[in-house]
Amino acid sequence: MNASVITAPLAPAAPPIGLDVPRVLGCVDGPEPGPILIIVGGLHGNEPAGVKALQRVLPQLAADAGGLVCGRVIGLAGNRKALRRKQRYLSHDLNRYWLPERIDRLRTSTAPLDDEDEELRELNREIERQLADATDGIYLLDLHTTSGPDLPFATLDDALSNRPFAFAFPVPVVLGLEEELAGTLNSYVESLGIVNAGFESGQHDATSAIERAEAAIWIALEVSGVLQPGRPEVTAARQQLSEGTGALPHVVEIRYRHAIRPEDRFQMDPGYRNFHPVTEGQEVGSDRQGRVSTPIGGLMLMPLYQAQGADGFFVVRPLNRLWLAASGVVRRWHWERILHLLPGVRRHPDRPGSFIVDRRYARWLALELFHLLGFGCRDKGERIQVMTRRDLDTTGNS
Ligand SMILES: [Zn+2]
Repeated sequence: MNASVITAPLAPAAPPIGLDVPRVLGCVDGPEPGPILIIVGGLHGNEPAGVKALQRVLPQLAADAGGLVCGRVIGLAGNRKALRRKQRYLSHDLNRYWLPERIDRLRTSTAPLDDEDEELRELNREIERQLADATDGIYLLDLHTTSGPDLPFATLDDALSNRPFAFAFPVPVVLGLEEELAGTLNSYVESLGIVNAGFESGQHDATSAIERAEAAIWIALEVSGVLQPGRPEVTAARQQLSEGTGALPHVVEIRYRHAIRPEDRFQMDPGYRNFHPVTEGQEVGSDRQGRVSTPIGGLMLMPLYQAQGADGFFVVRPLNRLWLAASGVVRRWHWERILHLLPGVRRHPDRPGSFIVDRRYARWLALELFHLLGFGCRDKGERIQVMTRRDLDTTGNS
């Protein structure tokens, strides 16, 4: 036999199994200057529905730019590397990375970056570019999907300026997510003065999740003032999103988060969906310690049916609309002058406008009062919680 050295050909790079897309999915300018609407899809790489929805809507708008009232809409891909791999993230959750100190460090850092830091830097640059161009209002809609077979909902960081934007979607609105999750894109852009909301359009790979994300885009275009009112697409979008959500509460608030780590090996029991009623003590899953039950009753939100993620499930409860209306009024009064008189509450020594709440003395009622007055929790400890006035609250007009 003729012995010969066979050189193994270099293994070809693994083909992408997900979406390979540019950062800017499309940018359409109207004939006149005006508000800017930024829409982000795929901040989690296993959630391509938002990207696909933008790929459908943006070309339609580009072909009909005269239909825009004014301003600009720009669609951005979130975690491009993770989208290619169809994974939630590669090394870190990009929707927990938007911390001001981290972003400041990235601006000047010359050290090698991890995958998500690179994504963060690039995406933030694009958002800052838009911010520099904004002269007449700037909005951001962050599109997501969930692992369970689910009805859509919007998420709201309850600053008054954000309310008209989030309440424009005819789906339940969830308050309080930003208090549970540090480093979300929405919380960060709010600190930049960008009016924002999140939209969860359904199950990751369902066609309906793409269609609902498209509907959310059309509604966001109108409510931000970029698109001429009365477009048939917006009317159809409202109708589409209303289907199946009529019996659900209009506004709910997060009251419990079941935080998990990979080593817990948490497994949700099958059959839960968003807004599924649960009672206090009900067993809903298992982990390495045994059965897991919910400590409070209410409605299930975002039960985890995927491998990656740090939230096993949330429990929400309906929020009275009267409460919302009242909070819109009382926030205009300067309660912060006397809040430190509450038991267990003192002014933060270093952060003006922030209060330290000792949860041993100031329980639910005091925290609810802070929410009513437009404060959110920015630093949550076991015993101590720091409540800070939301950045966009004082400029709100609803
Ligand atoms: Zn997501």
